[in-house]
Amino acid sequence: MVDLRSQYLNLKPEIDSAIQQVIDSTSFVKGKQVSDLQEHLQQYLGVRNVICCGNGTDALQIALMALGLRRGDEVITPTFTFIATAEVVALLGLTPVVVDVDFDTMNMSIDSLRRAITPRTKAIVPVHLFGQCANMQAICEIAREHNLFVVEDACQAIGAEYTFADGTRRKAGCIGQIGCTSFFPSKNLGCYGDGGALFTDDDQLAARIRAIANHGMVVRYHHDLIGVNSRLDSIQAAILDVKLPHLDQFTRSRQRAADFYDRAFAGNKHLLLPARDPQSTHVFHQYTLRVIDYDRDLLRDQLAEAGIPAMVYYPVPLHMQKAYQDPRYHEGDFPAAERLASCVLSLPMHTELDDEQLTYITQTVNNLTA
Ligand SMILES: *Cc1c(COP(=O)(O)O)cnc(C)c1O
Repeated sequence: MVDLRSQYLNLKPEIDSAIQQVIDSTSFVKGKQVSDLQEHLQQYLGVRNVICCGNGTDALQIALMALGLRRGDEVITPTFTFIATAEVVALLGLTPVVVDVDFDTMNMSIDSLRRAITPRTKAIVPVHLFGQCANMQAICEIAREHNLFVVEDACQAIGAEYTFADGTRRKAGCIGQIGCTSFFPSKNLGCYGDGGALFTDDDQLAARIRAIANHGMVVRYHHDLIGVNSRLDSIQAAILDVKLPHLDQFTRSRQRAADFYDRAFAGNKHLLLPARDPQSTHVFHQYTLRVIDYDRDLLRDQLAEAGIPAMVYYPVPLHMQKAYQDPRYHEGDFPAAERLASCVLSLPMHTELDDEQLTYITQTVNNLTA
């Protein structure tokens, strides 16, 4: 699915020397590399504050803590996403409220969102799934109308850009009050372990986020807030700082592979191509087909036999997960999400796919579904 080795070999001298510098400095935590990376990310994203933390899940948790949400407050997330989005809501004693997604964009459905708002709703957590922004125009309008916070789960969408109706452009994660991302190795900007970050233009929120990520501490050993311990280590920051200047090039490689797939599958009646939202660029964290009138799991197994990894992200929507059983929700409540769970299939997507690999993958898929 990903080829981290070839990408590393292309950047090896720079990455090796960046890692060695951290080891020589022995400043393994809170080193200069972390503040350098934060500054470079701020410039790249066009946002006032970037605060690095331990991973993307922590970023989401810290964001909700920083907003001062209380037990019983409702937080709306799409039901078709990675579990982390709802997990932190539940962990904090907040009430996850799930909504359906749009079958084409696979992102939060605006109709479903409108119907889910109650007097207890405090925040919306849209997920920019597979690398394309959710409908932020509508989500921001609804949030303003109902006085809600927006926390973006941009773990799959770093570098994507959203254009509002008035022409304003913002990077994914820099639209709501807080944006969250993950630097997990397979993400579009990945380190060599775990890592994550929060983005915000609000300096006061940024101060709370910094404190919460560091045991709620503002002045050393004075704890003004209940916090957590979540930090990015200097070695990971050094690796990310080497990769960041290449991110747009990485994105172009992914988009090129996606365009190749689109062209090759355009005439295949068993495959629906990923929909492209004209308001958002797509950074293709995943290239995700919808398989129609053909056994999706059979196709995945046949591809595996041909040496092609294909994955199902995500086979079970949140409202049908055992740990998230809730009398409010039943099978059939969120038809688009449930249909997607049974038909999505993601093909290999990374920065090192060449024409030979793409040709082999697309010909094999087309021959199998012919
Ligand atoms: C990867 C991911 C996360 C969690 O990030 P980690 O760094 O693995 O904790 C959260 N949400 C989405 C949509 C993700 O893809």
